[in-house]
Amino acid sequence: MIPSLPAFAAVVVAAGSGSRAGGAKQWRLLGGKPVVRWSVEALLKAGAEDLVVVVSPESNAEAEAALESLSGWRLAPGGVTRADSVRHGLSALGGPADRPVLIHDAARPFLSGAVIQRVVEGLVDAEGALPALPMADSLRRAPDGFVAGSVGRDALWRAQTPQAFRMKTLLDAYAAWPAGEPATDEAAVVERAGGRVRVVEGDPRLMKLTFPEDFAMAEALIPRQIRVGQGFDAHRWGPGSSVWLCGVEIPHDQTLIGHSDADAGLHALTDAILGAMGDGDIGDHFPPTDPQWKGASSDRFLVHAVERLAARGGRLVNVDVTLICERPKVKPHRQAMRDRLADLLSLPLDAISVKATTTEAMGFTGRGEGLAAQALATIELPIG
Ligand code: MG
Repeated sequence: MIPSLPAFAAVVVAAGSGSRAGGAKQWRLLGGKPVVRWSVEALLKAGAEDLVVVVSPESNAEAEAALESLSGWRLAPGGVTRADSVRHGLSALGGPADRPVLIHDAARPFLSGAVIQRVVEGLVDAEGALPALPMADSLRRAPDGFVAGSVGRDALWRAQTPQAFRMKTLLDAYAAWPAGEPATDEAAVVERAGGRVRVVEGDPRLMKLTFPEDFAMAEALIPRQIRVGQGFDAHRWGPGSSVWLCGVEIPHDQTLIGHSDADAGLHALTDAILGAMGDGDIGDHFPPTDPQWKGASSDRFLVHAVERLAARGGRLVNVDVTLICERPKVKPHRQAMRDRLADLLSLPLDAISVKATTTEAMGFTGRGEGLAAQALATIELPIG
């Protein structure tokens, strides 16, 4: 909540079909979070006392999933045009005639509290406020692909959202708008009705996701942190004819004993990834008391950890595993292990290390009682 900011309401327009972005972009994940959720979180955090998200009725389930666990929002059905959608949102909202209402486009996810504050405060001496950026590039006319004159940029601004108005001002302006004429945005509607719409400072990060390639740029704008996790595991040797290590089955005169396939390399690595996320350990996610994991291939534990990382918008950077044993010799199988990990983790080979060492006949690994494994994982995770 922003201190000293007057009470305000908001309409988030998420009813588009996203034909230019190759599908409805408001539900796509950005930094592990649906696009629409970024704006809704920002508005709620800034203190929006009422918030309506306008969606196509067939998208209700997607919207509810995207906004799961947030409170303080409601859905309203979208209309044929953007203006219809906004009107539906306003009537779902109701509330005091002089309460500021912010109309925001869900396709602009990086909404800051500072921009929200500027548009609400912009209503002090104007009928509307919109965030905008000055033109940095020079403008040229090129109707057939060849330059034919320039356009002065001094008085030109790139309009963004959210645009702020008092409820009654916007409703009256829409009532006066000629039926059938498409409206660019709410600022145009209020301006046509004689209102003054103030330009306040926008934010370059408040870019509109329009084309598929915009998502790559938006992902790059999300602040991320590097984290490291470590894992350790050990299993006892017992009678058998092969052993699983780092996802590869190696013929051997013994096997490792465990509830699952006892692949200590994959167990240590799974714990390293979970550790980097602060997401518990392998035993929390796959309790050894649960009969369904008896004899289970440990691939699934590792893939589960990677899926949890992806769900938080994170990605693996590199992994480093050390196997500690006197036998079997690991070196002949090292490349197969790296290939298997590259496959399971979708990482390039140079981001995957598998090393082996003995303990010079000392300790439980040296006496051949068991095998131990250590792992490190580096991850990138969105901040906040
Ligand atoms: Mg284990």
